[in-house]
Amino acid sequence: MKALVYEAPLVMNVRDVERPTPGSGEVLLRVVYSGICGSELSGFLGQNSLRTPPLIFGHELSGVIAETGPETAGVEIGARVTVNPLVSCGRCEYCVTARHQLCRERLLLGASLPGSNAEYVVVPAASLEPVPDGLDLSDASMAEPAACAVHAVRLSGIRAGESALVIGAGPIGLFVVQVLLAHGVTRVLVADRNPDRRRIAAGLGATVVRDGDVELLADVRSETGGSGVRVAFDAAGTATTRTNCVAATAPGGKVMLIGLHTDQTSLPVNTLIRGEVALHGVFAYNPAAFRTALAWLAEGRLGLRDGVVEADLEDGLGWYQRLVDGHPATKVLLRPPGAVADHLVEVER
Ligand SMILES: [Zn+2]
Ligand SMILES: [Zn+2]
Repeated sequence: MKALVYEAPLVMNVRDVERPTPGSGEVLLRVVYSGICGSELSGFLGQNSLRTPPLIFGHELSGVIAETGPETAGVEIGARVTVNPLVSCGRCEYCVTARHQLCRERLLLGASLPGSNAEYVVVPAASLEPVPDGLDLSDASMAEPAACAVHAVRLSGIRAGESALVIGAGPIGLFVVQVLLAHGVTRVLVADRNPDRRRIAAGLGATVVRDGDVELLADVRSETGGSGVRVAFDAAGTATTRTNCVAATAPGGKVMLIGLHTDQTSLPVNTLIRGEVALHGVFAYNPAAFRTALAWLAEGRLGLRDGVVEADLEDGLGWYQRLVDGHPATKVLLRPPGAVADHLVEVER
């Protein structure tokens, strides 16, 4: 099969690799869409210790079941599915309390397991999520980033009628905007450096505040009657965006840290202390959040249309490069050869 293989920092090539065989409890998927995640860009640059070459990236996917291994009763060949790519042990204290994302034994497709930037991928049958009728496989492949947003908003405890700021209007930030609005958060403010992304955020119903530290804080104050927001979501992860989130949050509020860009950054801790502002790390999602995201995509409550690019897997390297260079696409979905659209997928048996 063809696979886009990460071979060294900034180097990816389409190679002929052996098609994997599903083991016990596993299935083989014919990949139809494989999205490029922001977290993979640091891997592509060689700055992510979780992604070492040679590796097939890809954990935001949809496809159809091509083959089933033993112990996969109930899984039907040809079924349209997406996949929760975070594979956890299912037994530890975190897994049994619906916090699978914190499982110490967790594995991630496209990082610790071969991913979906290929014609086929093997996944555990337990990780499959059926795609509801009427939901395109392209939209279904975005359940994973949407699930990150569902989880972040739930963890924030924000309530209807409160205010929020989202810094970073990439796919996660845009999904956070949509989830906040769906929760009845009345005032959703957004900041991003990129004018295309600002326009898309405004189109989703957010109020765009100016970029630039001083202007951002001035706009947040004027939009919130001087108080600051109840919750700020950092979907970028730089020193500046984290600091601005702290400064924009009202006393007693929360800062949700989602963006994994820079590890060590300094923060105005005295401001946190005097305002009793809580800092909260947010990582991935649990299976319930993943299912909610998929259901909301099917109901049309969530979804990115504007700025979504569909590209051939053969041009994958070009798209990783463009995204690293700041291309404003909200999501790039790679299509392996032959997987042009749902109805054209040929399952080789
Ligand atoms: Zn992702
Ligand atoms: Zn576990």
